[in-house]
Amino acid sequence: MPTQPTHATLSPLRSRSASRLFLAALFCALSLFIAACKEQPAQNQNAGAQPTPAPTPGVPFDGQRAFEHVRKQVEFGPRPAGSAELAKARDYITGELRSYGLNYSTDAFQPQTPVGVRQMVNITAELPGESSEVIIISTHYDTKLFKEFTFVGANDGGSSTGAVLELARVLKARGQKPRYTYWFVFFDGEEAFCKEWDECKNPNGEPDNTYGSRRYVQQLKEKNETKRVRAMILLDMVGNKNLEFGRDMELSSQWLVNLIWDTAYGLGFNKQFVNRSESVGSDDHEPFLRAGIDAVDIIQIQNNPHWHEPTDTLDTISPASLKIVGDVALASLPRIEERLQSRSR
Ligand SMILES: [Zn+2]
Repeated sequence: MPTQPTHATLSPLRSRSASRLFLAALFCALSLFIAACKEQPAQNQNAGAQPTPAPTPGVPFDGQRAFEHVRKQVEFGPRPAGSAELAKARDYITGELRSYGLNYSTDAFQPQTPVGVRQMVNITAELPGESSEVIIISTHYDTKLFKEFTFVGANDGGSSTGAVLELARVLKARGQKPRYTYWFVFFDGEEAFCKEWDECKNPNGEPDNTYGSRRYVQQLKEKNETKRVRAMILLDMVGNKNLEFGRDMELSSQWLVNLIWDTAYGLGFNKQFVNRSESVGSDDHEPFLRAGIDAVDIIQIQNNPHWHEPTDTLDTISPASLKIVGDVALASLPRIEERLQSRSR
């Protein structure tokens, strides 16, 4: 509600302009109300010294669509790397990408794991931009293997996969060629087969996790394409009803963390993007950082009671949370592009 109009403190001579002011304020309040009803992201309320994030024109991120992608994946059941259920999820993902009109490629590989050789497949969809230089938006789509309980990974694997699919749809549907080329990457084999991610190593000394992203970066190196990738954005566990991301201050490129968190504050999401450090450990952004590629992980691992628990189920996920993440990502992209252009090689 607007506060008491200021005309009470004005002289009678100025009352006409005061009432005009009041009408204008009323009109603004009404416009804001209508905008809120349409669920458009509130614009920059407290961005401080940061420039106002560009509005996200055209097609909005649909939290409900992202949520339906999570539901579909959960319906397939547990989806560890190499399973028939993950193959179904893969068919679902590629079917969606095709329906958006995006070209995609798959890369099958067979790494050694502590439970033997497993078949894994990375998926990459491409949205060509004015520049052939690339911004990657990524997720893992496998779920962690548990023998002692059923683990469907609604949040861990499902939520970020749903969000990246919806981001791919929206960016393609907007119909404008972006400044940079976008790769939407779905990594296989992020999860360790041993209970903890750092519990065991493979006979060849390789870690028992991040199979897909390590393979991906290895291929970039072989094709001499690491320099082509200018930034990598990783989403992981982004659908909790109780959404709260801390900042990855150990590994992620801090300019990307700061830019995304400032954008979130500008949109009014201070409660969801909080100012504390998140202890991330190893995740799919790590191989990229080791190869000199700027990368950021948006992940809720602390304050997440369902992490690697049987309770990581659909009822803990909300379309509203997915939409917040989608809106922050979409509002951050133009600012990331600008920053990259200003430091272009
Ligand atoms: Zn996990």
